[in-house]
Amino acid sequence: MRTAEVVVIGGGCVGTSTAYHLAAAGCTDVVLLEADALGSGSTGKAAGGIRLQHADALNSLLVRRSLAEFLRFEELTGVPIGFKQVGYLFLLSSAADLDAFRRAVGVQQGLGIPSELVDVAAVREFVPQLATDDLVGATFCPSEGYATPEAVVQGYATAARRLGVRVETGRAVTAVRAEDGRITGVDTDGGPIAAPTVVCAAGVHSAGLARGIGMELPVHGEARAIHYTGRDGGVPGSAPLTVDFASGFYFHREGPGMVFGGRQRELEDLGEPAVRRLPVLAGLPIESSWWGYYDMSPDSNAMIGSGPVDGFHYATGFSGHGFQQSPAVGEHLAQRVLGLPVSLDLSPFSAGRFRAGAVRPEKFVI
Ligand SMILES: Cc1cc2nc3c(=O)[nH]c(=O)nc-3n(C[C@H](O)[C@H](O)[C@H](O)COP(=O)(O)OP(=O)(O)OC[C@H]3O[C@@H](n4cnc5c(N)ncnc54)[C@H](O)[C@@H]3O)c2cc1C
Repeated sequence: MRTAEVVVIGGGCVGTSTAYHLAAAGCTDVVLLEADALGSGSTGKAAGGIRLQHADALNSLLVRRSLAEFLRFEELTGVPIGFKQVGYLFLLSSAADLDAFRRAVGVQQGLGIPSELVDVAAVREFVPQLATDDLVGATFCPSEGYATPEAVVQGYATAARRLGVRVETGRAVTAVRAEDGRITGVDTDGGPIAAPTVVCAAGVHSAGLARGIGMELPVHGEARAIHYTGRDGGVPGSAPLTVDFASGFYFHREGPGMVFGGRQRELEDLGEPAVRRLPVLAGLPIESSWWGYYDMSPDSNAMIGSGPVDGFHYATGFSGHGFQQSPAVGEHLAQRVLGLPVSLDLSPFSAGRFRAGAVRPEKFVI
């Protein structure tokens, strides 16, 4: 039977980051199994946004640590990720949202994150094409931006392979195996692999795999769409990733055009709030659209941890912000697997919180 020290399930940003961090820490007897192609799950559908502005400070800390790695990603892996550090601009149209963001900015500034409240005149300077009549304020943080998720996956996978990790695509895990409270390996559609450690980073498919070893991992998929206009309508290349927080409509420049999306799966539902906020959109033909799953948890925060049997580790349920957290999450999982001190205490994100009734809702979900 084939063997490995660690099996990583899933070739998205979280699985490839974990494999890379394991190998970079010296653990190279690692097999990464991806049922389809690398990046073919949620990661390949993502908008690539990287933001420090979260309601939950632990999310801001996770992204702060991840940001440091995104900034030196090409140096680490040899693969450029097209990171545009243009900031995030949150547009706020209610007093309640302004209050919530003001409080969050206070917490973020306490962590050394340079987010700030900005007025509506500043919003118009960032993106002159925006309709701003109903806005009561906005927040901006210049360290944020967007990068190319597929490039991040390829970068981690390439660097992991170079260090000795075996990356297998088109190879599905059909069951995780455990005996006497310990992981013993996985079954795959190409035969079993014996391993004392399994990292489950299978995105929305993680729940079924965990159930096989008696664990409830309450992640479910919520469909979200993105659209690409081949033209930019005059929106400057320096425009921040802009979010109309009340409606969820967001956009950023992409090549000669723009990508935009929102909480609405159907374009018919997104069109009205999108055009109201950015009227030039009405004149821009949509060249392509795609959709993917947000990997939602019950409180919109990730589930990251270990158990219920020795040797099983998991990370899923990122609820729309998994790409931007994947560097620090992969590092964290590698540290857990290898018994190293962790860089960030992520125990509040253990899936056990739902059994204990200790939910911690993230409120700034786009
Ligand atoms: C439209 C959209 C926009 C988004 N925008 C952003 C954004 O701007 N910023 C951000 O941070 N996040 C964003 N996200 C969320 C982000 O994409 C996810 O949180 C993140 O990609 C999760 O990564 P993952 O590696 O955990 O999961 P995935 O990328 O889904 O990877 C899991 C992989 O596991 C594989 N797999 C599943 N089952 C098995 C099995 N049994 N055996 C082997 N392999 C298996 C799958 O094929 C898949 O490739 C967005 C998501 C969507 C859909």
